[in-house]
Amino acid sequence: MKCKCKTVRAFAYQNGAIVAEGQNDCRPFLGICWTSHFHESQLAWKLCRSKHAEEGLAKELIEHLLGAAPFGGLKPDYVLIKGHYYACEPCARLLKSLGVKEIRVRET
Ligand SMILES: [Zn+2]
Ligand SMILES: [Zn+2]
Repeated sequence: MKCKCKTVRAFAYQNGAIVAEGQNDCRPFLGICWTSHFHESQLAWKLCRSKHAEEGLAKELIEHLLGAAPFGGLKPDYVLIKGHYYACEPCARLLKSLGVKEIRVRET
């Protein structure tokens, strides 16, 4: 049963260029996402336990941070989230701890 959540992408920008990106990734236990039990119109996306796009982005950022450390590190100016209307609290905190100053969201 496939996940019905829409794709969310997150991009980290530095000096106008994308330096890292992530996408939500649903790989539920036994391959059954809770959202598959609901009709699209009553879809409770919170039931989906997918990895958030910001988590994927954070993972990439950490890899870049480790790699770029000798050259002064990576300091993303902002993160843009596409396909969702907010960044959840744990994700926002995670990104801030990685030096992201601002999180912008765009629903489309
Ligand atoms: Zn899902
Ligand atoms: Zn999140």
